[in-house]
Amino acid sequence: MNATKSAEALREKYRIEREKRLRPDGSAQYVDFSGVYKDFDRDPHVEPGFTRPAVNEAIDVLVVGAGFGGLLAATRLRQAGVDSLRIVEKGGDFGGTWYWNRYPGAACDVESYIYMPLLEETGYIPTEKYAKAPEIFAHCQRIARQFDLYRAALFQTLVERMDWDDAANRWIVTTSRGDRLAARFVIIAGGVLHKAKLPGIPGIETFQGHSFHTSRWDYDYTGGGPMGGLDKLADKRVGIIGTGATAVQAIPHLGAAARQLYVFQRTPSSIGARDNQPTDEAWKQTLQPGWQQERIRNFSAIVSGRPQEVDLVRDGWTYIFADDGSRRAQTPEEAAELRQQADFRKMEEIRARVDAIVRDPATAEALKPYYYQLCKRPCFHDEYLDTFNRPNVRLVDTEGKGVERITPTGVVVNGQEYPVDCLIYASGFEVSSEYTRRLGFDIRGRGGTSLRDSWAEGASTLHGMHARGFPNLLMFSTTQSGWAINFVHILDEQSQHAAYIIERCLQRGIATIEPTEQAQQEWWGVIMSHLMSGGVAFGGPECTPGYYNNEGAAFGPREIRMAGFAGGTLEFIEVLRNWRKGDDLAGLELTRTAES
Ligand code: NDP
Repeated sequence: MNATKSAEALREKYRIEREKRLRPDGSAQYVDFSGVYKDFDRDPHVEPGFTRPAVNEAIDVLVVGAGFGGLLAATRLRQAGVDSLRIVEKGGDFGGTWYWNRYPGAACDVESYIYMPLLEETGYIPTEKYAKAPEIFAHCQRIARQFDLYRAALFQTLVERMDWDDAANRWIVTTSRGDRLAARFVIIAGGVLHKAKLPGIPGIETFQGHSFHTSRWDYDYTGGGPMGGLDKLADKRVGIIGTGATAVQAIPHLGAAARQLYVFQRTPSSIGARDNQPTDEAWKQTLQPGWQQERIRNFSAIVSGRPQEVDLVRDGWTYIFADDGSRRAQTPEEAAELRQQADFRKMEEIRARVDAIVRDPATAEALKPYYYQLCKRPCFHDEYLDTFNRPNVRLVDTEGKGVERITPTGVVVNGQEYPVDCLIYASGFEVSSEYTRRLGFDIRGRGGTSLRDSWAEGASTLHGMHARGFPNLLMFSTTQSGWAINFVHILDEQSQHAAYIIERCLQRGIATIEPTEQAQQEWWGVIMSHLMSGGVAFGGPECTPGYYNNEGAAFGPREIRMAGFAGGTLEFIEVLRNWRKGDDLAGLELTRTAES
């Protein structure tokens, strides 16, 4: 095959594989942990029966969510001198993603030196290039201790309602534990990846064996812990549904422990080399103040398509974004062609890696991804593919159709039942569903208007953070906001931005802030201009279905208004920083407190 023909053949193959996976129900194929599925939502990390007295108080700031976003927001507020603070969190501790996700093998897939926040502030250096979940969870607790956040936290608590009180200029927030918090400002730092989903396969509730979602791993049943050693599975037949980033990390441990493991696959992930390393003591000694921010920026620049003189992280991510020559192209068409050729080459390497590791040719073929690399989140692992060489592990490829049915005793694919004792759902989280749906509670702003209704025709914001009609509300989300592969980079910037705004308001006697209609329109213009000029993007209409492209369904005007800032991570950060430099809260309408 010459190069052109091979590109044509690949384009056609990608198209065929995509078509196999398109389904009319799109995102509606998934169900959440409510109704008959509510038992899936049990928190395995807390003792049942927790009670505490209800809290009734007036505070300056309420932070909703105690994951990285909430931790960073609260830390930056503390650093800005804001003491009157509460944090409400569903889980039993700080950590968010790292509180819930304790499945075996869980580790960060972005380098820990740039992913784990506040390393210089806490004086902590991770023990490995890709730290494992317990170490990251412990770091969350370290941050909370250091910045005295535990005394502000209300754990195992869900926000139920949020109503703006126009007379008091406060948000009245009520919770599942009967709390009533009257907050001048609310930061919502949850909702990006916290709502787990199940595939809406018929029969899930009829299964008589043991089943759970990966974000609620049941070690009482499997034995072992996040580092593996699942000894209670030695006599069990285990099925796992899904082969995304979570499953890729868990499957090597399941394969090592279970009597029989069935991996039910709909779409294979791309699996690059991981090459994890213990932290080099000599390197640690060379680190100079400011090293973490420099490294974070270096990574975000490279993966936003801005080549740098040095690649400090040098891993599978930066390799994907290595210079493909398209920046030197003469025309946009030439640039697109060069980018596509580079993608074909890199995905051919991924497929060749499968052949090099997996011995059974049919299994190897089924494990090869045929789509553009950024259609799905790329995965990196050094034991996943090899697990399929074990005699007790069987890949059940559903050829893009997905599992057909769950019975009381097993899983049906293509008319055949695979009996299992334990069924694990590695079926992910809601990522691209509407922000107001992911939140799980409604927000009622001025005049009792709900955010859901206000955004019925699509979101309107300033910087993705403020919405007109919802004073003193600061949201961290991806809707009309920045986006990063190392998402913590954006969260920290949003946290600094929110802390700056709140500190200014408290200091200057500003009672309320709210974006003007014009500022929202201008911001939407900025979002659109980047969408039109096609920045680095995950997903896309030519992609295999997934959460990056609304499961392959066309985007309507409402979904388009949920788009993020496509101009690059550093550019978004620049927008926020320049805005703060003006020090005039531009685009926000202000009202003053009576005393000022
Ligand atoms: P994903 O959404 O990536 O994966 C869900 C899996 O379930 C997919 O393989 C999907 O197949 C499969 N699936 C869905 N429905 C069916 C069905 N009916 N039959 C068979 N299979 C089905 O979830 P993950 O939890 O793996 O990852 C979510 C995100 O969380 C990641 O993209 C990443 O951002 C983050 N993450 C990060 C990690 C890290 O930093 N270490 C680790 C884990 C997750 P299909 O592809 O066909 O839709």
